[in-house]
This record gives sequence, C-alpha cells and structure tokens, in this order.
Amino acid sequence: MNQRLQDLVSPHFAQWVKAGFISAEHWAKFAQQTGMVGVSLEENGLDRLREFAAELFQFGQGGLVSTFAINEIALRLLASFETPLAQKALGETLAGEARVALCISEPDAGSDVAGLRLEAREQEDGRFLLEGEKCYISNGPVADYYLVAARTNPAMADTWKGISLFLLYRGTQGLHPYATPMVGIKVMPLGGIRFQSCLVEAETLLGRKHRGFQYLMSILGFERLVIAILSSQYAKHILASSLEQLKTRRLFGQSLSDFQHVRFELAKLHAEWTVTHRFTLHLIEEFQRGQAQDSQIWAAKYRNTELLKDMAERLLQFFGAKGFVAEHWAANLYNDVRWLALAGGSNELILDMLARDLLNHS
Ligand SMILES: Cc1cc2nc3c(=O)[nH]c(=O)nc-3n(C[C@H](O)[C@H](O)[C@H](O)COP(=O)(O)OP(=O)(O)OC[C@H]3O[C@@H](n4cnc5c(N)ncnc54)[C@H](O)[C@@H]3O)c2cc1C
Repeated sequence: MNQRLQDLVSPHFAQWVKAGFISAEHWAKFAQQTGMVGVSLEENGLDRLREFAAELFQFGQGGLVSTFAINEIALRLLASFETPLAQKALGETLAGEARVALCISEPDAGSDVAGLRLEAREQEDGRFLLEGEKCYISNGPVADYYLVAARTNPAMADTWKGISLFLLYRGTQGLHPYATPMVGIKVMPLGGIRFQSCLVEAETLLGRKHRGFQYLMSILGFERLVIAILSSQYAKHILASSLEQLKTRRLFGQSLSDFQHVRFELAKLHAEWTVTHRFTLHLIEEFQRGQAQDSQIWAAKYRNTELLKDMAERLLQFFGAKGFVAEHWAANLYNDVRWLALAGGSNELILDMLARDLLNHS
C-alpha cells in the first residue's frame, strides 16, 4: 500500500468511523499530501482515481472511498463554471480547505430530477429567495459549499426547463444542514438541507438561468462511470479478502475452499468480475479520450453495481456467523454496497434508458 496513505489513514481510521466523517484537518492533509482531491480533473485522472480507490478499499470501509469520489463529482461540475465565486470555491476545495456537495434530491423528487420543487424566486433586486428542502446529500453535513438545483420558473410547462443551479456557502443565512444516520458507508456522512427564507445574491447563480437541468445532465456520464469504477474496485477487494476465510476455515475435515460448490461460486464471481473490470478499464480509456458512449457507461454502472451486490450476498454466506458480527468487515459489506445501485440514477432508471436506447436504434 501507498505508505503516505497508510500513514494518514491508519492512526485516525477508528476515530473517523466512530464520528462518521473525516475531520476538516485530516481532509486538508489528504489534499495536500496525497494529491487525491481533484485528481479526476487531471489528465488520465480517472485512472488515478481508480488507483486511489483500490488503496483505500483495503481499509474495508466503502464510505472512506465514497466520501472522496463524491467530492470529485461535485468538483467536476464546479470546475465547469468561471464565475469569481465558483473559482474561489474551486481553489479552496482543491487545496483541501473546503468540501463541496451536489444537492439535487428532495423528499419528493429523486429519480425524477425534473420534478424537484425547491423554489428560488427571483426578487426585484436580482437576488433569489430559496424555500424548500434537499435530502440524501453525500458529504452534506460536512460540506462548505453546496451546488444546489432549484426551480426558478415554476410556470414552465416543461418542468426541466425551469431549473437553475446555485453555489451556496455553508454559512448562508436561512440554509440549515442536518445529518441523516445511515445503515452503511460509515465515514461518508449523509444529510439534508432546509432552506427557510434563504435570500441569496444574484452572483450565486451558476451559468445561465433555467439551464440547471442541462448542467446536471452534463455531469451524469462522469458520475455513473465513477460509480462503475468504485463498484469494480470494491468487488475486487471483497473477492480477494474472502479468500483467506475460504482457505483457512475448516469443516468436515477439509477447507471451505475444498467444497466444489464453494469453488464454483468463487470461480463464477471471479469470471464475471474479470469481464466487467476489463470493460470498465476500456471505458475509462474511452472517457479520457472523450469518446465514451453514454449507453456503455449506463451498462457498466448497472452491471458493476449489481455484481457488487450479488458478490456481497453470496460471499457473506461463507463467513457464517462472523458475517453477522457488527465489527466484522463482512457484516458491514451488505449495507455498504446497496446505495451504489441507487446513486447516479437508480438501476431501474438506467435499465429503462438502456431499453429505450436499444429500441430507438433498432
Ligand atoms: C448513500 C446515498 C448518497 C446519495 N447522495 C446524493 C447526493 O450527493 N446528491 C443527491 O442529490 N442525491 C443523493 N442521493 C439520492 C439518490 O440520488 C436517490 O436516492 C436516487 O436518485 C433515487 O431517488 P429516490 O431515493 O427518491 O427513489 P425514487 O426515485 O423515489 O425511486 C423509488 C423506486 O422507483 C424505482 N424507479 C425509478 N425510476 C424507475 C423507472 N424508470 N422504472 C421503474 N422503476 C423506477 C427506483 O429504482 C426505486 O426502486 C444519495 C442516495 C444515497 C442512498
């Protein structure tokens, strides 16, 4: 393992798991000493993000990887704007002095992004008044900046055309973040934000008014590919970590790995992982050349996240009761992997898009 990462994580890991997040002080160290924060903006950055993910998964906590990866997704969207506020936030985030969260989901709007209701009513002086709520926001409780999608034109018949994007600072009056306890991915905090009479300056608007939906869509391919990469690396880690249990656990006079059923299960998972992993590597290359096809990214996001869930389910059984003990990494696994099938567009939504694409092009 990368010694720098090892030195940074090992002494504080237990404390981060207990607190549910990485402290601001340690986050800054990650950025300054490892180059991890903002890595995906660099040339061949997705390759390096994948390498970092592989290193961090060795600590056996999916949240440790996700908290950085999700920050990368928001960062990439932020980096596409050149307003002074966006550049300031970008600089601070790259330096590790701030974290940024992407706020789209709401209590009544998840997969159906165009249905979001947080209202940003334009005032006569050009400011905007925000009222409503965001929820299930990764890094929400610790973020310093929020990229917030809000409705600026409720009258627009095509609902997706009335959405705008704002960049808001944590200390903004009327912006109230809260934490939401989760069943998995400790170390990546989740939460929501209530906007109550939240009056913000015109400068907080990012890009053009009513163009927010297009900006959000522009980041989705990247987001889904990052999720596919995380899933593939996580699957590799849990497959490798299960081998010791299979080889050392003895029952009925032999090792678990001597049973033909176990060998077949292992071999099938490995075969599936090898194929999906090769495809993911190919997609990373294509993406970095600007040639990745959306439908291929959807396929990888769907297949990799489903394989990961399947792997967690099937491998857990081989740990017997150990996999039910709260502190054991295998027990955390089941809850850790499920959210990847929801984030970046739920897998059912992805399947629907894949089917539509297939039918429209046949
Ligand atoms: C750990 C975690 C982190 C997250 N981080 C963020 C974040 O940083 N920012 C953010 O904005 N959001 C975030 N989310 C929210 C996430 O994007 C939503 O959970 C996701 O969009 C689904 O929305 P929903 O949960 O409201 O479910 P719904 O949209 O209500 O979906 C309910 C069910 O309908 C299914 N469904 C959806 N579309 C179809 C379809 N076309 N056909 C059939 N079934 C369908 C879904 O698969 C699901 O089973 C996060 C969620 C989790 C769990």
